[in-house]
Amino acid sequence: MKYLDEFRSPELVKQYLDEIHSTVTQSWNIMEICGGQTHSLVKNGILDLLPDKINMIHGPGCPVCVTPLALIDEAVYLAEEKQVILCSFGDMIRVPGSKKSLLEAKAGGADIKIVYSPLDAVKIAKENPDREVVFFAVGFETTAPPNALSVIQAKAMALNNYSILTSHVLVPPALEAIFNDDESEVHGVLAAGHVAAIMGLEEYYPIVEKYKRPVVVTGFEPVDLLAGILQTIKQLEKGEYKLENAYKRVVREEGTPSAKEIIFKAFEISNRDWRGIGTIPQSGYKLKEEFLNFDAHEKFKISIDKVKESKECIAGQILKGIKKPDECPQFGKKCTPEHPLGAPMVSSEGACAAYFHISDFQF
Ligand code: SF4
Repeated sequence: MKYLDEFRSPELVKQYLDEIHSTVTQSWNIMEICGGQTHSLVKNGILDLLPDKINMIHGPGCPVCVTPLALIDEAVYLAEEKQVILCSFGDMIRVPGSKKSLLEAKAGGADIKIVYSPLDAVKIAKENPDREVVFFAVGFETTAPPNALSVIQAKAMALNNYSILTSHVLVPPALEAIFNDDESEVHGVLAAGHVAAIMGLEEYYPIVEKYKRPVVVTGFEPVDLLAGILQTIKQLEKGEYKLENAYKRVVREEGTPSAKEIIFKAFEISNRDWRGIGTIPQSGYKLKEEFLNFDAHEKFKISIDKVKESKECIAGQILKGIKKPDECPQFGKKCTPEHPLGAPMVSSEGACAAYFHISDFQF
């Protein structure tokens, strides 16, 4: 398959690995931001093939993992107490809330539907004019355009029974929070190509300048990731820091202007709570004033007490790259994909799930 097979080529992988091995002379911590990058690194065995001096740190780019506990409780409340039709992507429904997950609420009779697009939820709202329909709008910049489009479309259709429960988070402020965290020691970053494909590169230049660390945008195939690691190592070894795009077949400097236009028609930037990390200023989207009728939190006047995270789950340290999943005492013991204690063990992009499913760990 063009643009895919060549980026899985064993010969190219070997060439990149050889060059990485001959380039690296010092120990470096490199963070891959996105859970999709983490899964590719683990699934393709790349972590085992890199030099010992390169320590890959798994970043916070798993949307399901960083959705606050309180928001899952709000979704459960809407489905159970307000009896809305709650529409969600599949990953989200298994994530534990403080008392139960959406899956458990569904098993108890709540009307929870798995959809593949927010526009499916708009369709459900149109077909069920007597019911309130809420879409659980979770994600990074990548899912913001369709979520924004859903409220724009619902407004145009005068669908008063549709709203979204929003937890949109943004990569650049999270990157700054990690660089500012005294506990984390990240020397260089592999930024996620799909986010840059939407937003472009401009947001990263000031961060690179301010923190003086290399950021390289990569794709998700083995050759994409190794090319990004090599470019990062070359910069670090020379004492350089700059923004590089190692995913030029997809990412343009300006991103996708039409998608950004849709995002900023419906959303504006706001502070956001990140599960396991806390509040990061200006790190998410909220609906603009003119779309507040479509904001489920406002519409249903939800007021739910925030519950503290389980002390057993160290997801915050995993998401900031301070610890690896297998350093969590519960990993593979009390916490498994069948009985997850935290979101990183549930999501298809969660680092704990990646280690559990694919690595060689023996229990
Ligand atoms: S292994 Fe489970 S308990 Fe530990 S950090 Fe991951 S999700 Fe949380």
